[in-house]
Formats: sequence, C-alpha cells, structure tokens
Amino acid sequence: DPKKGKMKEVKKETGLGLSYKKDENFGEWYSEVVVSGEMIEYYDISGCYILRPWSMSIWEILHGFFDAEIKKMKIKNSYFPLFVSPAVLQKEKDHIEGFAPEAYVTCSNPATDKSRYVAWVTKSGDSDLEVPIAIRPTSETVMYPYFSKWIRGHRDLPLRLNQWCNVVRWEFSNPTPFIRSREFLWQEGHTAFATKEESDAEVLEILELYRRIYEELLAVPVSKGKKSELEKFAGGLYTTTVEAFIPNTGRGIQGATSHCLGQNFARIFEINFENEKGEKAMVWQNSWGFTTRTIGVMIMVHGDDKGLVLPPKVASTQVVVIPVPYKDANTQGIYDACAATVREMNESGIRAEADFRDNYSPGWKYSHWEMKGVPLRIEIGPKDLANNQVRAVRRDNGAKTDIPMANLADQVKDVLATIQQNLFDVAKQKRDACVQIVRTWDEFTVALGQKKLVLAPWCDEEAVEKDVKARTKGEMGAAKTLCSPFDQPELPEGTLCFVSGKPAKKWTYWGRSY
Ligand code: AMP
Repeated sequence: DPKKGKMKEVKKETGLGLSYKKDENFGEWYSEVVVSGEMIEYYDISGCYILRPWSMSIWEILHGFFDAEIKKMKIKNSYFPLFVSPAVLQKEKDHIEGFAPEAYVTCSNPATDKSRYVAWVTKSGDSDLEVPIAIRPTSETVMYPYFSKWIRGHRDLPLRLNQWCNVVRWEFSNPTPFIRSREFLWQEGHTAFATKEESDAEVLEILELYRRIYEELLAVPVSKGKKSELEKFAGGLYTTTVEAFIPNTGRGIQGATSHCLGQNFARIFEINFENEKGEKAMVWQNSWGFTTRTIGVMIMVHGDDKGLVLPPKVASTQVVVIPVPYKDANTQGIYDACAATVREMNESGIRAEADFRDNYSPGWKYSHWEMKGVPLRIEIGPKDLANNQVRAVRRDNGAKTDIPMANLADQVKDVLATIQQNLFDVAKQKRDACVQIVRTWDEFTVALGQKKLVLAPWCDEEAVEKDVKARTKGEMGAAKTLCSPFDQPELPEGTLCFVSGKPAKKWTYWGRSY
C-alpha cells in the first residue's frame, strides 16, 4: 500500500506525533496533547493559557447550546463589571460564617482551603490606588446590590440573569490547562425567586443542561448529585454537581455546579420584596456555572496516543477530506472530487473541509488531523475515483469503510452519529468499570490505591469526612466526598458507615479529585 509506506516515512521526518503515552505518563501526555492538538499555547504567566481557534470553536458550540436553552427558560443575558469594590466583598465576608476567606475572598491559610484567591488591582500607572479594587472570582457580590435595587414587589420576580464572561481565581495548586486556570471563561447564572419551590426546580433544570453538555455534546458520562456540607459552596444552602471521572488518574472532577443559595445573600444584600399579601419577604436565590474546564475533561477522557479525539457534535471540523494523488493518475480529477465532496457535505450541514496544501504529503496530513482529533477522515485517490467511492476512516477506532459517492452526506451523518454514541459508550464502560462499592475502611484504602471511584455508605457527618481527609492526606492529595448521587442504590436498614460504623444515611462517591 503506497499510502502506508509514505505515512511511516513522513512521521519519521517531521516528528509529528506525541512523545508520551496516555497510559504511561498521563500528566505529560496531557500537557503535550493540548499543545500539539493546537488547543492552547502556554503563556508566560503561570496558570494562564491562550485558547487557540481549535478550542475556542468548541467553547462557542457549548455556548450556543446552553444560551439557546436558557433563553427558552426566559433567562436573560446581561453584563456586569470585572471589578469589585472591597466594601461589598467585606460585606459578604462579615456575614457568612466560614465563608471568607476560605471561599472566595483573599485567603489567609493556603494549606487548608481550596486555594482560591482574589487578585487585586493596587496601582494605576505609577501611583498606588487609594482603595485597591478586586477582580471578580465570581459575581455574587457584584450583582446582588443591584438585585436589591431592582426587586421591589412580587411582580419583579423571578429575576433571572446570566452572563458570559471571564473570572480570575489566583489558584496556587497545580494549574492545568482548561481544568484549573487562573483566568477562565464561563457563564454564571444568578436568579431570584419568590419561593423556595421555584428555586429548587431551577437548580435541577440547570443541572440537567450541564449533564447534557457533558453526555450529549462532549460524550463524557457524569453523575448528578449533591455535594456534602463540607464541599458545598459555603455561602449557599446546598450545591448540586455533575461529577466526571478520569480513569487514568483515578480522580474525580467537579464538572459544573448549580447552587441553591437559599436566603443567605438576600439577607446580606437586603433583597426584599412585597409579596401578594402585602408583606415584606426575602427572595430565594440560585447561582450556577460551567467553565472551559469542560473542554479539558473531554480531552482527558477521549484523547489517545495519536492525539485529540473530538466528539462530532463539538468538532468545528467534523470531516476532513484529503486528496491522495498517485504518480500520473488524474490529479485534477481527484482534487475536483474532493471539492465536490466537501461542497455536498457542507450543503447538508456537515462541517467538512479539504486539505489541499501541496507542501504536505497525504501521510503527513493523516497524522496532523488525527492529532487534532477530527472525527472522520475521507481519502480520495485514483481507485476511489474510478469506483465512484471514497475511503472513510474513523478517528475513534480507526475503522475504514468505502462509501459510494451517491448518497454520501446521509451516510457520513450516520457514521458521525455512530462515532458520537461510541465515544460515550466506551467512556461510560471505562468509568463504570472503575466504580467500586466498599463497606469498610480497609476496602476503601485498597480501592483508593487502585484508582477506583469509590461508592460507600456514609453517615453524612462532617467530622467523619474531615477524618477521611486527614487519614488519606499525602503526596497525591486527600480523598474526599465527590457527591451523593441522586441515583442511589438501595440502602438496606442496618447498613453502616464505612468509616464511623454509625448507621449510614446515603451512598456517596469518594475519591481524590482535581
Ligand atoms: P464555582 O463557582 O466554584 O461553583 O465554580 C463553578 C465551576 O467552575 C466548578 O464546578 C468547576 O467545574 C469550575 N472551576 C472551578 N475552578 C476552576 C478553575 N480554576 N479553572 C477552570 N474551571 C474551574
């Protein structure tokens, strides 16, 4: 096969390919694949990354999906400033016990908290600012003074706002592209309701959208659940989450969070309204967000030793068409067939492009687009042309098929749908294979050592979670609760907590996490 021989030669010459294997050096593999796949470029400030068009186009697709869905829910977009006055940050800090500095505001004890820090502007040109100004790590304190101003009576409710923006959290531990960066892109929704029932319902509606982003768009399986008291957003009433899992590292990762804030912020920021009976009442609030972390989780879950593997629904190029001219065969005919193929696919809504560059060989192009994770490659050579067919090669499993040119678009659509489903199925199989049910401390430590996603009966006591954290502390980081899944296995009467031996209240996922 002339194609194959050429490809091997080219690989040697150009050095295309990854130097690390996913299963052998996961951390290095990830750092390399995000750059070689042209997702990011490293930047000279630690924890900050350049999002190149290849990753930005994925973010735009997630943005488009979510934005359309929340508009159906009558949530409106707005934009609030990047800067926060220290006075309102202080207000939050004064009112919520255990909230600041640990939650968001400048941190006094990096060892014991989540290492979230507020960055401050202290200078303008050469002169010190009289009062330093904070850069938003999230916008509760930016928005809620105005919620207080805008909400007067029950007719002003619900107030449901969202904004697409960047935030800054001066994280210190392990910056990782997409997964944990100091500046990241997100949407943050902030809503206020007259009743708790309405706010509870919205928390779950948004969580379902987050599940769909992961499972339907990114083909990443997640568990919906509730965070423990220790892991919830300290300023809120309860936190719901979609939790993903990275089998290679055995770490859980908080995919996105939908918080019910209760009336805590309403109390601090005096967000009151006159209800239908003419009485003064406090609003119920939610806040919820997903970030560019989603892209990192997708890369970690699907990528392989050849590079990125993009699910068709989020790939800006779903199909790449590569001409494979051979000796004195009909080169022009091949190029024309490629152009016509792309045109036909584009017309039926498939995101396809041809790689006509004449300074690269077909083999080089195969490796290049494999590195970038394009879901389907179509090759057209002299034989294909003669037989009125194209050769299609799947990125997810390497499977090759010949597709007749008649009715090409419909068949390609089917293949793309199959790839999307297969990526999810394979990822789910791998994730499920990592889930380990444990009932005792000994079983727990063994499972943790085997990088399992541990599901254990728990008494739901904060002191016990703290104890687990303390006892598992080490180089790898401590284990903690990831979430209590909404989908609970049966918990027979008399089941005991795997740590305390007290009666268990629920099944909870435990593990190390990002
Ligand atoms: P939070 O406001 O803390 O609930 O954060 C919302 C979501 O942002 C979390 O569920 C994480 O998925 C994500 N996230 C938190 N910190 C970072 C970070 N440093 N970089 C990227 N994503 C983050």
